[in-house]
Amino acid sequence: MRAIVIAVGSELLNQERLDTNSLYISRRLREKGILTDMKMVVGDNREYLSWVVRQACKRAQIVITTGGLGPTADDLTREAVAEALRKEMIFREEIVATIRERFRLMGMAMPETNTRQGFVIEGAEVLPNPVGTAPGLFLDTEPCRVLLLPGPPAELQPMFDAVLEARIGPLSRFHVRSAVMRIAGLSESEADARLTAALGRVANLDVTILASPGLIEIRLMGRSRKDKAEAEEAVTIAAERVRNEFARHLVTEKEESFAAAMLRRLREKGLTLVVAESCTGGKMADCLTDVPGSSRSFMGGVVAYDDALKRDFLGVSQATLGRYGAVSAETAAEMARGVRERTGADIAVSITGIAGPGGATPQKPVGLVYFHLHAADGDVGQRRLMTGDRGVIKVRSVHYALNMIREYLDGRA
Ligand code: ATP
Ligand code: MG
Repeated sequence: MRAIVIAVGSELLNQERLDTNSLYISRRLREKGILTDMKMVVGDNREYLSWVVRQACKRAQIVITTGGLGPTADDLTREAVAEALRKEMIFREEIVATIRERFRLMGMAMPETNTRQGFVIEGAEVLPNPVGTAPGLFLDTEPCRVLLLPGPPAELQPMFDAVLEARIGPLSRFHVRSAVMRIAGLSESEADARLTAALGRVANLDVTILASPGLIEIRLMGRSRKDKAEAEEAVTIAAERVRNEFARHLVTEKEESFAAAMLRRLREKGLTLVVAESCTGGKMADCLTDVPGSSRSFMGGVVAYDDALKRDFLGVSQATLGRYGAVSAETAAEMARGVRERTGADIAVSITGIAGPGGATPQKPVGLVYFHLHAADGDVGQRRLMTGDRGVIKVRSVHYALNMIREYLDGRA
């Protein structure tokens, strides 16, 4: 069973908007053992769209479009798909009645343009849209099924989930079980080599490894034509091998961020955390506070960019700054100690470095970052030299700092 996803909308062809719908769809399809062979972005052009849909239907068993179901003149998906499949458009009064009622509940009169949304492709199942006005359409045709979904992600996602469970998922010839494991403190190439060696051959298993700055994700997918148990077994065997191989690097086995995983562990141990950031400019605090409930363990932090703030807010000594500079192991240590003393947190972490592109000296290149973790029973510094642009160096630094927390919690700081 193979799928092609077509994102519709001229705004997706330039920098205005990024197509994220296809990513959501292909991820969810994959969970059901259906692979996406291709995705395309097509502007609001009926001729192109109908041509693309016709070609896609010759190749795939499932073709999914997103967007262009709205009431305006540039919303052409319904017409284009009907044309591609050589089907008629049929007017369904009850769809318009539903939309009119929606408007009435919001205290508004339905604009006449919305009557366009009452036209459906003959033979299509109408998928209700509890979040917006545009209903989706599903054509359960052989050999290729066609699904039309609205563009706004908040409307598309629940609609797709429902039709996936009820109609598309059961078509898959595979039973699928998957697991995710995130690891840190290794380069991608080293992780990849060790993963391959550790896994050996596992029947019915698909493995993907995905590296982002400072964090590596391993996705295990068991696929079986026979039954769930066989898919489950493949994942269980593989997960056990990955767990053993990367015991000293494992961040989480859940769908959660690095920050979320560390906050969970801090909470379990009843520990509080503070940060003192320079080159990351608050990114670490930002990542931590992205996690709901973070205040139970994360107290806050100081963004001390200028030397004066490192001195006045964190108590870094002028002598240290003068002798070693702001980007140094000594300054990082005093930043961590200073913020911990001033807040009474259990653990303090500091980051100071050169994110670039300017600011480098012969001794201190771009990407040089010092970290320090200070706790009642731990005092450890780290020096890292990393590659990447400013944004990458900041993200990588946050992940390195989180990794120091992880090592401390594992009792190895
Ligand atoms: P509406 O009734 O809201 O007009 P529609 O089905 O016509 O629904 P579009 O007009 O194509 O959808 O898109 C509406 C909005 O949905 C876009 O402005 C954009 O914000 C978002 N959107 C559309 N396509 C995508 C996509 N592929 N990925 C992410 N967001 C998208
Ligand atoms: Mg629209």
